[in-house]
Amino acid sequence: MSTLVASPTEALAADFAGELIDRDHPSYDAARQVWNGDIQRRPVLIARCRGAADVAAAVRIARQQGLPASVRGGGHAVAGHAVIDDGLVVDLSAMSGTRVDPAARTIQVEGGCLNADVDRESQAFGLAVTGGFVSHTGVAGLTLGGGIGHLMRKFGLAIDALRSCDIVTADGERLTASADENPDLFWGLRGGGGNFGVVTSFTFDLQPLGPSILAGLIAWPADQAPTVLAFLRDFIADAPDELGLMANLRLAPPLPVFPESVHGKPIIGMVVTWAGAIEEGEEVLRPLRALGTPVVDSVTTKAYTAHQKMLDPAVPHGRHYYWKSHRLGPLTDEVISVICANLEKISSPMSSVPIFSFGGAMARVPDDATAFPHRDASHDINIVASWLPEQAGEADRHRAWVRGFFDELAPHSRGVYVNFTSDDAHHRVREAYSPAQWTRLTALKAAYDPTNFFNQNANIPPQ
Ligand code: FAD
Repeated sequence: MSTLVASPTEALAADFAGELIDRDHPSYDAARQVWNGDIQRRPVLIARCRGAADVAAAVRIARQQGLPASVRGGGHAVAGHAVIDDGLVVDLSAMSGTRVDPAARTIQVEGGCLNADVDRESQAFGLAVTGGFVSHTGVAGLTLGGGIGHLMRKFGLAIDALRSCDIVTADGERLTASADENPDLFWGLRGGGGNFGVVTSFTFDLQPLGPSILAGLIAWPADQAPTVLAFLRDFIADAPDELGLMANLRLAPPLPVFPESVHGKPIIGMVVTWAGAIEEGEEVLRPLRALGTPVVDSVTTKAYTAHQKMLDPAVPHGRHYYWKSHRLGPLTDEVISVICANLEKISSPMSSVPIFSFGGAMARVPDDATAFPHRDASHDINIVASWLPEQAGEADRHRAWVRGFFDELAPHSRGVYVNFTSDDAHHRVREAYSPAQWTRLTALKAAYDPTNFFNQNANIPPQ
């Protein structure tokens, strides 16, 4: 007896130019993997879109068939929001085209691009936009949550450079959102995550940079961490916008850049980015480079694209990860002592604790201009545990380290960056916004996605 109801694959095949990957497809197991190897989900169908028409068709079929759906950009969300059990994945990973307009100083970026795609094309014209600290992160998810990176103190967040977005909404409609068109939606897309639809294309303003900049890593043994963190607190408060600093605490990996004497021992690193004239940067950096007795100082003139990839090998695809995060004010002595005490208990040589420093251009944008709050906060801390797939039995130990550290810092928390939420996204999403932003976002959700079709994210429910 033949069935009258088409499978999602059959239903979509009639109106789809990309690749349809169902459970019988030879690429299925590879296509359902995301960055975090700890996430193993089995969708019914992965619709690898080739363009906005495919995205609209996938959204329409999922709704017609009552299938839950997820949206995949770069697949980096630590909670694995991009992939869904028994649902349909609207996969934009093949949509990675970019186009720079050097005269207008803009770049148009398809919804599946990675930071590396944007850096490569824009740097070919000596231009840049703030991208994340790891080049294999998706531009879409990163931007929709705000987008912090090496250049944020000089050029603002990724959303501050956003000029417009093309989006497919929950009813399959295609809209443009910008300051002039659908400005309410444009406001929500700048921080509200993937709650309002699938963004098929972003246009960013670019700024001149490089192609060489002054940048690199300075690192000290962990016994100097309290001094280094106190210095970071005071130094960054008055530093020029051109300076980006990211501290990173971990066990020193056995890489040639580190002397053998510190391999496997706790260290504090400082990732330095100077987005200005080289000689001026050398002057500004003098006190930092003279601080204590570093074991590494690799700060030098280097290609910006190389600097953007410097941290990539530390967080490869497929390892297992768990993290929790706080936005923080200035690093008080109490906060510093919590951080240093927990570094001593770090549970794996692959784990790390990056501390991002805000201020400069990103802090001068008013909080109500976008859906990104607490721009006056000083830092963000991410407590990242990582272990190998074959060490899955040790997961509880690594998670316990993250949770204990996180709990000790909780009294100092100023909320959370929505893109750094994890399995706690559901109950922490409100902390990621101010009350006024939350009211506005839930109203916007009711207008653009009243049935909450887009719910595989840090979910903002319709008001
Ligand atoms: P995905 O997992 O594909 O998607 C994440 C969310 O965005 C999902 O809810 C998804 O449905 C939605 N989404 C994806 N694409 C679209 C689209 N085209 N339209 C609508 N919704 C979409 N963040 C920073 O700001 N700065 C950093 O430097 C930074 N570094 C990171 C480094 C690592 C190693 C990792 C794992 C994350 C980092 N993040 C950083 C956090 C990152 O911004 C988020 O994980 C972000 O969600 C990644 O976006 P993605 O497109 O890769 O992820």
